[in-house]
Amino acid sequence: MIHDPHTTPDTELSQFRVKGEIPVPVLIGWLSLAAIPLLVFFAIRSHLRGDALIFAVLVTFSALLASNALWYQVSRNTTLQRRGFIVLITVLFTYLAVSAVEDGSAIMWLFAFPPIIFYISEARIGVIACSGGLSALILLFSPIGDSLFNTPYSTNFRLTMVAALGFEMVTCYILDQSRRRSKLGLIRLAADFEFAAKHDALTGLANRREAHHQLDTEHQRYLRHSRPFSVLLMDIDLFKSVNDNYGHQAGDLMIKLVARALRQQCRKMDTLSRWGGEEYLVVLPETGNAEALITAERIRQAIAEEAIAFEGQQVRATISAGVATICGDESVDRMLQRADEALYCAKSQGRNRVCNYDTARPGSAVG
Ligand code: GH3
Ligand code: MG
Ligand code: MG
Repeated sequence: MIHDPHTTPDTELSQFRVKGEIPVPVLIGWLSLAAIPLLVFFAIRSHLRGDALIFAVLVTFSALLASNALWYQVSRNTTLQRRGFIVLITVLFTYLAVSAVEDGSAIMWLFAFPPIIFYISEARIGVIACSGGLSALILLFSPIGDSLFNTPYSTNFRLTMVAALGFEMVTCYILDQSRRRSKLGLIRLAADFEFAAKHDALTGLANRREAHHQLDTEHQRYLRHSRPFSVLLMDIDLFKSVNDNYGHQAGDLMIKLVARALRQQCRKMDTLSRWGGEEYLVVLPETGNAEALITAERIRQAIAEEAIAFEGQQVRATISAGVATICGDESVDRMLQRADEALYCAKSQGRNRVCNYDTARPGSAVG
């Protein structure tokens, strides 16, 4: 069953992948793959300039990024991969800014930080990381930063850099929020479609197709583990007269009332379905014949005691039920046929009763 996205918090959004969306581990893999040769390229340039420290630092970062990517290939631990990557790029970008690598131009790499962080982590983490990063940059450009690191950036550059980076961060946040909302909308739509495809609109019970699916699942389980299951085929008695006497609307209310009674009387594991107009099929997993009969009788009594209030009148209805329990190597269709015969028996014996298809005496159904 699909998870209900209407209650999905932002953190769980990442568990759903919309078609065409790049998974976070894959994006981190590609970013690492692109960063490694770039780091090596700038490391070689530093080496040629005789800057041994920057050479060593950049080579170390490329080795660490490669190790993080390789460890992910071995462990498949996505959280570790993401956290490792975030720590590495944060430390690297801080180093590039503080040490004014490549004559101070390497600080431009800070612009790569906001889109990456918003894509690979939750919105909350993105906001925290961006505000922390911008505050750190302002500190670096302040007199305190100058006294600590003595960076060569001009005042004009500092002002433009802070304003442009802040602007980019806000834009990334807005785009990310819009992306998350669209994704949530798609997930909700998919869940609504899935629900509509499997359920009956009037009662909210499973529809016939979904009931068949559950029957096949139970049948497979029965064939593998020999655990029996049963079905109850139910039909509202003389329902046509409810429609004729009180109108279609009252009929619909009656159909809903029976559905509600089924929900109250059955277990969570049972499949309750609207099989046809005023027919219902209940699939009872891991249930033998005796227990199925008790359940059917309980449902019948509960419905007989209920009534709908329609235009000041109490309208009552009863149901008839046919019970069948899987046996031997019979098919689902054969089992349904037996339930139908038992239901027919209940109708012909006067309605408002439960009939069981007795497998010991094929062709007979008993009340
Ligand atoms: P029996 O006891 O033999 O089952 O008699 P019955 O009158 O219930 O059976 P019958 O098959 O003659 O009539 C079923 C009626 O159910 C006919 C149809 O118009 C009505 N029906 C089917 N679906 C709906 C529905 O969704 N809403 C309403 N109001 N009526 C429906
Ligand atoms: Mg009917
Ligand atoms: Mg009927």
